[in-house]
Amino acid sequence: MLFAEVILPLPLHERFTYQIPEPLQDKVKPGMRVVVQFGKKKNYSALITAITSSHTSDFVIKPIDALLDDEPVIKQVNLDLWNWILDYYMCSIGEVMNAALPSAMKLEGRDGIMEEKYHAKTQTIVCINPEIAQPEKWEQVLAEISKAPKQRDLLIQFAHITNLFFEDKIPQLERKAFLKTTGSNEGVLNQLIKKKYLIARTEVVSRLETHNSIQTGMNLLNEWQELALSQIRSAFEKWATVLIHGVTASGKTEIYIHLMEEVCRAGRQVLYLVPEIALTSQIVARLKKVFGNKVGVYHSKMNDAERVEIWNKVLQFEPGQNKGYQVILGARSAIFLPFSSLGLIVVDEEHENSYKQHDPAPRYHARDTAVVLGQQHNAKVLLGSATPSFETYHNALNGKYGMVKLAKRHGVAKMPQVVVADIQYAFKRKQMKSMLTPELHKSIGETLESGHQVILFQNRRGYSPYIECMDCGWIPWCVNCDVSMTLHKKHRRLSCHYCGHHIAEPLQCIRCGSASLKTRGMGTEKVEDELYKLFPSARLTRMDFDSTQSKKAFERIIHQMETRKIDILIGTQMVTKGLDIEHVGLVGVLNADNLLNFPEFRAHERAFQLIHQVSGRSGRKEVEGKVIIQTSQPLHPVIEHLKKDDYEGFFNHHIFERKAFFYPPWSRMIKITVKHKYPAQLDSSSMELGRLLRANKSYRVLGPEYPLVGRVQQFHIKEFWLKIPRSQNLQEIKENILHNTETIRKLPGNSALIIQIDVDPV
Ligand code: ADP
Ligand code: ZN
Ligand code: ZN
Repeated sequence: MLFAEVILPLPLHERFTYQIPEPLQDKVKPGMRVVVQFGKKKNYSALITAITSSHTSDFVIKPIDALLDDEPVIKQVNLDLWNWILDYYMCSIGEVMNAALPSAMKLEGRDGIMEEKYHAKTQTIVCINPEIAQPEKWEQVLAEISKAPKQRDLLIQFAHITNLFFEDKIPQLERKAFLKTTGSNEGVLNQLIKKKYLIARTEVVSRLETHNSIQTGMNLLNEWQELALSQIRSAFEKWATVLIHGVTASGKTEIYIHLMEEVCRAGRQVLYLVPEIALTSQIVARLKKVFGNKVGVYHSKMNDAERVEIWNKVLQFEPGQNKGYQVILGARSAIFLPFSSLGLIVVDEEHENSYKQHDPAPRYHARDTAVVLGQQHNAKVLLGSATPSFETYHNALNGKYGMVKLAKRHGVAKMPQVVVADIQYAFKRKQMKSMLTPELHKSIGETLESGHQVILFQNRRGYSPYIECMDCGWIPWCVNCDVSMTLHKKHRRLSCHYCGHHIAEPLQCIRCGSASLKTRGMGTEKVEDELYKLFPSARLTRMDFDSTQSKKAFERIIHQMETRKIDILIGTQMVTKGLDIEHVGLVGVLNADNLLNFPEFRAHERAFQLIHQVSGRSGRKEVEGKVIIQTSQPLHPVIEHLKKDDYEGFFNHHIFERKAFFYPPWSRMIKITVKHKYPAQLDSSSMELGRLLRANKSYRVLGPEYPLVGRVQQFHIKEFWLKIPRSQNLQEIKENILHNTETIRKLPGNSALIIQIDVDPV
């Protein structure tokens, strides 16, 4: 008897045992998917992790129903990463499986009925029967069908289109395209197939776009880049992980490409992580020029079937053979692809928060996971940023990571001039033009006049964050969450950005009936409206969550920016990251106060990074760059350091604040979130959890406290923040936490209580 230990795609910690039926015994291997029954009449696709000849399960052992794969879809080294994630991020193996596999590889069914969600895309190919593809035979065939002139014509057309007698290969055409170009009908074609003059067959085609860009090779590095590259090489001899701290537009991407090329030549794979899918289209174009069709792209805007095809192409890769993907450019979930031999992982813009998955579990950080992935493959890991995260910079200063600096922009490009514009000062003197200070208003005008482009950054989407009744003070509030509803004028509705609930825009106050409702604050939609009025001849485009719902939206907007079809680009965080547009001469930050005043220990670090990054979009080539930061706190330390373009000064100033309050990187943090629909039940359970946690003296406990938004989707929320000294045994502490949360879950009345654990929250 043989048994398979499997993982189910359910949030469960256990692995389950099934019996392998006789006919499957010499076919199954670890890493293959099988269909099993679990629970009452429910079927799932499970993943085999081990095959054994005995088992220790207490349950009745059911047989495997079916085998789904001919070859393993995942390797042991990939499962090693799953195991690390479930331990480190305190989640279940089923949750890791759910995050790792594309959803079309996970099936669910009832009563033994399961349908494969992934189907290969096929097309029908028509080719000429080789037997008639010789001149004498051909004449004979044409004579044979002279009584069917339509068939005869179509056959002649086929010969004509395919250049039949001038090519060595047996020519073929795609059936639909052939019918379309010839304007012929299916019946005629089918007759030719029936008479065996033409042969039809079905073949599998890829859904993935193949860019046929010309491979032009790599750019020559400039003197400073060359130096940085050799410093990185020697740092890699000492450290597995190296940070490149290079100013914006210094050519970090060029350096990555040179390192990647070396690794490819050595026959190993490369993973290049980017935080935003908005960035992939620009970078992939640069990679294709060097690596051609060895490059694959993997991110969340791809559909299920495309993801499976990419998965398979990574699996197919073998050194020295021209198949499969050797280089993957991807967003965070690309760390789960079935690599067999990574040689290099690049984490671009390593400071970005979008590397962290918030919901659902596993709440992993792709940068930190990449460092572990690198160890598992014995690969080098290169982290790149102009504004490194405090954690990474701290690690570099401590000697845990190597560090290389690149302080100069490429070519003639200089760092942009940074101007701080005081909103309050202008407001008091009635000099504001809508949301623009005189400085920004004038600069936009000048930039447009000289034919250059403008990027404006506002970190709120929608028209205005809330509306208010001028007579009674009523503010529309979400029914499910403790948050005001945002006005989206284009759709004439108020919507909640936490739960998606929306209502029609009210025309009068619901409480007192007054018609004087006023919009408060401003989102990107309002900025767009106001700029239309101020610069009526400028071509404006908005880039935010709402304007980029379609798959191609990013590519379209970036292409329009590159070809100068847009004069002013207005956007949320999306415009701050990595964009490399030659003719941007001005970047405006409309309101830095929103970022500075956020009640969170990382707020200042994040504000510095965001504003510095968006500034970096300006003056990247010949055009001289300018940045205007609007704020009512011009003397704020973050603003002061931004003005001087002084990352080190900023880091040194703030790292001591972190130390004084024992925040990361000085401590480790774990956040525990407790949720319940009834506030009383939440209160008593979280008080009790607090008591249990505080009994352990090896870490400090903050909370339970209501977060900024204390109710979301009808759940009341309380949070704990645990600060753990780096000297403590993290594993023991995690076990203690799990023990305590389990105790609370089992208390009476707590079956509907939700407890979420977030290790290294950001
Ligand atoms: P970073 O990643 O540091 O922000 P990029 O690699 O995007 O910088 O470089 C900024 C711009 O300068 C890009 O358009 C890039 O193509 C160009 N560039 C940088 N280095 C070189 C080089 N050695 N040769 C040609 N162009 C370069
Ligand atoms: Zn009112
Ligand atoms: Zn809501």
